[in-house]
Amino acid sequence: MPGGVNSPVRAYSDVDFDPPFIESASGSKLYDIDGNEYIDYVGSWGPMILGHAHPKVIKAVNEAAKKGTSFGAPTLAENELAEKIIFAFDSIDKLRLLNSGTEAAMTAVRLARGYTKKNLIIKMTGCYHGHSDSLLIAAGSGLAENAAASSAGVPDCLAKLTCVIPYNDINALKEAFRKHNGKIAAVLLEPVAANMGVIPPVEGYLQEIRNLCNSQNAVLIFDEVITGFRIALGGAQQLYNIKADLTCLGKIIGGGLPAAALGGRADIINALAPTGPVYQAGTLSGNPLATAAANATIDILMQKDNYRKLEKTGETLQQGLLKAADQIRLPLTINRIGSLMSCFFTDKTVKNLNDVKNTNKEHFKMFFQEMLKQGIYLAPSQFEAMFISLAHSKQDIQKTIEAAKNSFKKIKE
Ligand SMILES: *Cc1c(COP(=O)(O)O)cnc(C)c1O
Repeated sequence: MPGGVNSPVRAYSDVDFDPPFIESASGSKLYDIDGNEYIDYVGSWGPMILGHAHPKVIKAVNEAAKKGTSFGAPTLAENELAEKIIFAFDSIDKLRLLNSGTEAAMTAVRLARGYTKKNLIIKMTGCYHGHSDSLLIAAGSGLAENAAASSAGVPDCLAKLTCVIPYNDINALKEAFRKHNGKIAAVLLEPVAANMGVIPPVEGYLQEIRNLCNSQNAVLIFDEVITGFRIALGGAQQLYNIKADLTCLGKIIGGGLPAAALGGRADIINALAPTGPVYQAGTLSGNPLATAAANATIDILMQKDNYRKLEKTGETLQQGLLKAADQIRLPLTINRIGSLMSCFFTDKTVKNLNDVKNTNKEHFKMFFQEMLKQGIYLAPSQFEAMFISLAHSKQDIQKTIEAAKNSFKKIKE
């Protein structure tokens, strides 16, 4: 396996450290093959909002497995899941179930192009939408032009059809709309960015994007693969009261198994095959095990007070870390929405990718290493988020704050 891993970030390239090999997980804890226990703040990069191996999820998957693991045919469990997602998201009238977030964003782009009969996609620097060709594009020099592939193997002719602008910069988007008037099929973004560390939208940003999309009949795509069911049941759209035309979901809706969804306005979703001309398919889509895990996970999330509890746990951790840093005058900025947060070693506000790049990466690397040595498992990159689950106890949070105090002291030395 290249780098010894099956997804690049697992190789710990940014932090000069060998990754633990995981044996098992339960609740808020991970256990590695050397017998170490960790309090886990990665949560499989987002899905494990209930904690690991939640008894109700495991039971649902077991029961589904006994009835057969895949049929490639419609099931009632898929309908139940679709109804729950439609209930949670005001903007979703219809949806298709898929297998990964990559597939959701890739399909959203094709659907927006097929529906609008336009080709240009606008995305934001630092937002991640999986690894499909049209979305592995970075900003080139100059505003709203000269986009270039961020991966080898993506043809230039395709890169030219994606325009990349800074996140949280409404003027850059206005400029792009002026320049590409009438050619824009879609604007795609993470409504709360969480793949350059966590960066919430600035006041009014999402509404301005909504208005611009309306002005040129461009499809507004929210990639809520991380934020959906994470920062609220109805994702960022519920929190900020903005309706997207298309919404990408993944991570949490698989409950730790591979599942994703693309949902949105009925007239757009109906353009997908078999009702429409935009092709998309999947042998394992709506897989019975993934669907069972998804139904069990969302059932629990729908119960009262869970999001309030996540907010409270996040708040306690944030305040504890800020206080610990402040006591020894270590510059620290924390961006947090509910159970999704990032620590940046800087005294400045962090509003876009450039701001993240200007934080102290050496401090982050030390912080990461010192925390891991004390049994706190964080994402091995400044550009990833911390995920808190419903399984994180008060003791877990206190232990994490104590470990951070030690780590901050090491950094100061
Ligand atoms: C993880 C992620 C994806 C890709 O999902 P995969 O299931 O890894 O393909 C897409 N968009 C966002 C916002 C993500 O965080």
